[in-house]
Amino acid sequence: MRALTEPKIVLASHNKGKLREIQALLAPFGVACVSAGDLGLDEPAETETSFAGNARLKAHFAAQATGLPALSDDSGICVDGLGGAPGVYTADWAETSNGRNFTMAMTRAWEELEAADAPFPRHSQFNCTLCLAWPDGHDEVFAGIVPGQVVWPMRGIHGFGFDPMFQPDGYDQTFAEMLPEHKHPISHRADAFKKLVSGCLT
Ligand code: IMP
Repeated sequence: MRALTEPKIVLASHNKGKLREIQALLAPFGVACVSAGDLGLDEPAETETSFAGNARLKAHFAAQATGLPALSDDSGICVDGLGGAPGVYTADWAETSNGRNFTMAMTRAWEELEAADAPFPRHSQFNCTLCLAWPDGHDEVFAGIVPGQVVWPMRGIHGFGFDPMFQPDGYDQTFAEMLPEHKHPISHRADAFKKLVSGCLT
């Protein structure tokens, strides 16, 4: 496992919700980070069919483009009653000609569960795969999950993406009802990040 010794990295993401969470997670380690969006980098097409495949693709793209170590996040929600969908296509389910609409994507997920008469609780998990890639082509990959269920109607105003319909196991609030300081430490991203810390940051 390679340690991160460089003082500055690029966050290979244009997703503001993910950036906020990752910057908060990185802050205590004194690693300065600049986002791919701020540097005006293009977003590579996510052509892989696994979280790890897409995370590697995004991190290597940003590391090559900037000459800095790059950290990417590929994540999404997998719903058991939908055969694991939307999974790596979570963001795609929200695409419209006017940008992303997650109310539409969550409504679709619930309607498909209803059509399938899926049993309750409607188990699902958020997945997050982080990839730290260096400009010389080396990378390290870390996967995290948080198990829970999808609920309806949507609840809460915090967070982003599918947070309003995801209730993690052991809690009676959705991710969107939790304040960021409560969601961040128990999220799939925090789970993957802990593994990154023990592998590369200590
Ligand atoms: P991608 O990794 O850019 O393909 O996008 C993953 C998508 O999964 C995001 O656009 C969100 O909709 C969703 N997602 C990932 N992590 C979270 C989370 O912590 N809360 C809510 N939605 C998430």
